Amino acid sequence: MLEDAMGRRFYYLRLSVTDVCNFRCTYCLPDGYQGKPDQSFLTLPEIRQTLTAFAALGTEKVRITGGEPGLRRDLPEIISAAAQTPGIRTVALTTNGYRLAERIARWRQAGLNQLNVSIDSLNPAEFHSITGHNRLPEILRGLEAALAEGVSVKVNAVLMRGLPDQLASFLDWLKTTPVTLRFIEVMETGDHPAFFREHHISGQTVKQQLLAAGWQAVQRRRDAGPAEEFWHPDYQGRIGLIMPYSQDFCSSCNRLRISSTGKLHLCLFSDGGLDVRPWMQPHVATTELQDKLTALLRHKAPSHLLHEGQTGGTQNLSIIGG
Ligand code: SAM
Repeated sequence: MLEDAMGRRFYYLRLSVTDVCNFRCTYCLPDGYQGKPDQSFLTLPEIRQTLTAFAALGTEKVRITGGEPGLRRDLPEIISAAAQTPGIRTVALTTNGYRLAERIARWRQAGLNQLNVSIDSLNPAEFHSITGHNRLPEILRGLEAALAEGVSVKVNAVLMRGLPDQLASFLDWLKTTPVTLRFIEVMETGDHPAFFREHHISGQTVKQQLLAAGWQAVQRRRDAGPAEEFWHPDYQGRIGLIMPYSQDFCSSCNRLRISSTGKLHLCLFSDGGLDVRPWMQPHVATTELQDKLTALLRHKAPSHLLHEGQTGGTQNLSIIGG
C-alpha cells in the first residue's frame, strides 16, 4: 500500500501523457504552448508498467491528463491499458473537449468511465476570451454525446473574479443537466502570480451561498478527488468545490502525479519531479518500480506552501496536469 509518513494513503494516480495543449487559457498558457518540440513523452509500454506498479500498491483510480491528452493519437490505447490493469476500477480523463463528440465513443469503448471537461464559462464570448477558442457550442455538443454514451461527466470551471454571472449561469444549467460541476479556485503558479492576485476568489464564499440555498454536503469516497461536493433535490446536477487554500486541504490528500516525461510529483506544488523513468522500462521488474515509489513517498511534505506564495517548481499546470 502506498502510505506516507503522515498515514495518508494514495488510491488515486493522475497520469499526464503530454504537456502539449492547443488552448490558450488565460491562467495557464495565455501565449499558447511554448515547450520543446522534441520532448519525449511516456510510451505505451512505460505507461503499462507504471499502471501495473501503482495498482499493485493499491491505486484504484487513474486520471489521464495533460496538457491536452486528446492530442495523443494513441489515447484510446492508453485508456484501454488503464482499464485492463488489474486493480484499476476507475479510468477518468480530463480534457478541454476539443473534438469530443467525434472521439467519445472510441474512448468509451476503450474503457473510460469518467470524463472531466473544462468549461469556465457558459457565455460563448467569455469562453472564447478565456481559452482563445470560439468552440463552446461544439464542446457542449461533445458533453451531450458523452452523457448519451453513459459516461459519468464532470465539468471543471476555474472560479474567477471578473465573471459576475459564472455561478448563476451554471446553477441555472445544473437544474436540468446531470453533471457534477467543480469550481476550482485559481491557484498561483510560477508563470502567473499577477493573474492569481487579480482573479482569486475563495470557494468558501460559494459554499456559504450554496448552503444558504439548501444545498447539502455529499459523503466523500476514499478514491474521491479533492472536491467538497454538494447536492440539491431541485437540481439534476451537483456542485463540487476545490479549495486548495482552505485549512486542512492537504490532510485528506490521496493522490500522486506522474508527469508526461516520467517524473513522480509528490505534490502539485513540490519543487520538482523525481525521475522514475528508468524504473518504468518494461525490462525492469515492476517490483523495482514499486520499491522506488514506496521509498520516494517518505519525502512527501505534510502540506503545500501556497499560502506563503511558494508555488514550488510548477510554472503552470499544463506541465503536470492540474
Ligand atoms: N487540457 C485539459 C483540460 O483543459 O482540462 C487537462 C489539463 S488542465 C491543466 C487541467 C485542469 O487544470 C483544467 O480544468 C484547468 O482549468 C485547470 N487549471 C489550469 N491552471 C489552473 C490554475 N492556475 N488554477 C486552477 N486551475 C487550473
